[in-house]
Amino acid sequence: PVRVRMAPSPTGSPHVGLARTALFNWAFARHHGGTFVFRIEDTDKERNTEESYNSLVEVMQWLGLDWDEGVVVGGPYGPYKQSERTDVYADVLAKLRDSSYTYDCFCTTDEVAARRMQSGSKVMGYDNFCRELTSEQRAAFEAERRPSVVRFRMPDGEVKFNDLVRGEISFQSEFVPDFALARANGDPLYTLTAPVDDATMKITHVLRGEDLLSSTPRQVALFEGLKAIGVADFTPEFGHLPYVMGEGNKKLSKRDPEAHLLAYRDQGFVPEGLLNYLALLGWSISGDRDVFTLAEMVEAFDIADVQPNPARFDLKKASAINADHMRMLSIEELTHRVIPFLKSAGVVSDPVSDADAEMLELAMPLVSERMNKLTEAPELLGFLFVDEADFTLVDAITEADKEVVQASYDALQALDTWSTADIEAALREALIDGLGLKPRKAFGPVRIAVSGRKISPPLFESIELLGRERTFARLQHALA
Ligand code: GLU
Repeated sequence: PVRVRMAPSPTGSPHVGLARTALFNWAFARHHGGTFVFRIEDTDKERNTEESYNSLVEVMQWLGLDWDEGVVVGGPYGPYKQSERTDVYADVLAKLRDSSYTYDCFCTTDEVAARRMQSGSKVMGYDNFCRELTSEQRAAFEAERRPSVVRFRMPDGEVKFNDLVRGEISFQSEFVPDFALARANGDPLYTLTAPVDDATMKITHVLRGEDLLSSTPRQVALFEGLKAIGVADFTPEFGHLPYVMGEGNKKLSKRDPEAHLLAYRDQGFVPEGLLNYLALLGWSISGDRDVFTLAEMVEAFDIADVQPNPARFDLKKASAINADHMRMLSIEELTHRVIPFLKSAGVVSDPVSDADAEMLELAMPLVSERMNKLTEAPELLGFLFVDEADFTLVDAITEADKEVVQASYDALQALDTWSTADIEAALREALIDGLGLKPRKAFGPVRIAVSGRKISPPLFESIELLGRERTFARLQHALA
């Protein structure tokens, strides 16, 4: 059975690359009826924050990428935070130390650097010096009470693996030095913790960002050791997702404002829209189709279709796709989504009063096709819920505009029925036929008078919604 995971470190605010990794793992799991695990790599005590952890959970919940095992929900292979798994790592490290897969290394970084200077070697990192220590040398270092680290012995020759995205990848072992599994004080390092978690959680496929490709030969080699000591049953398959490039074709970095996930929620994206866009960062459902639902993605998702070349992040395209998904929501659902934005803008009461709810029900069909982001709702709907005394634009109304408003007032007063069609007919007759105005000149002042804005939902419908009493009060206010 397929078991995949996402394993973020709780540092900083969750970013686009991380959400893309989460989405691809989730879609892979759902496509294969597998299990999606959400664990936390928090061994770096200096950089981890509770706030970052909370926002990771928040992002996943907002996106609706549900996980079957992991933090919050638990599961059979927990705990799912590395900081709570120190016993597991200590135990595996002890077993590895008893095997021929590791050795103790006593070198200081200065010594390694000095040896490299002397030999002129271009190979970076550790020079595997302690691999072949004699027992006398070892005893001498121990007598000196030199601190030591446990290093994994890379096999000679090449390390090969079949990347699910990139095909066969091979590394010459001479360029992959023996690596430390833990600090001298025993604290386990990422090089140990991630493969041990993958092994003990029985992860079958590791799908993660390309930035981790260089650590894969070490992990693949380590799996041989983990199998030998009975910790792993198999080596997972690996697939590395392409880099996401931002402005100027540079890697999108945590410093770029558009990299931050929760900002999209706050800017009024719907998760459906953002997920669709994130899917396009390396994958497509078919050559000519950009817009699809999550269910369609799950149905079609195949890791072999992921492209290895870098994906470009395009905010305009993300916004356009978001707008398409807004139109796919039912009016009820859209209303439900805009309410928090209306509340925080003070447009509707909290909790929503019956009167506000009724007004929303009538107004939402008018604006649903006009919104590209949820944050536009207060701007579009606000005029229905506020008092005309707050309309500052009305102060700028000219004498000529007032003539238009007066003519509108008179025409509407003469109406027997208060319907959109009648309102439109009356205003057209009075302003366009009567005063001989072009539509923009005619309806602009009326719009400002009734909505306090230059842009509003369709004018005639808005007037119907406002009702006679409020419409006349507003027209009068503009004339005063
Ligand atoms: N903790 C790593 C990160 O935040 C992910 C490690 C992995 O997926 O193997 O980038």
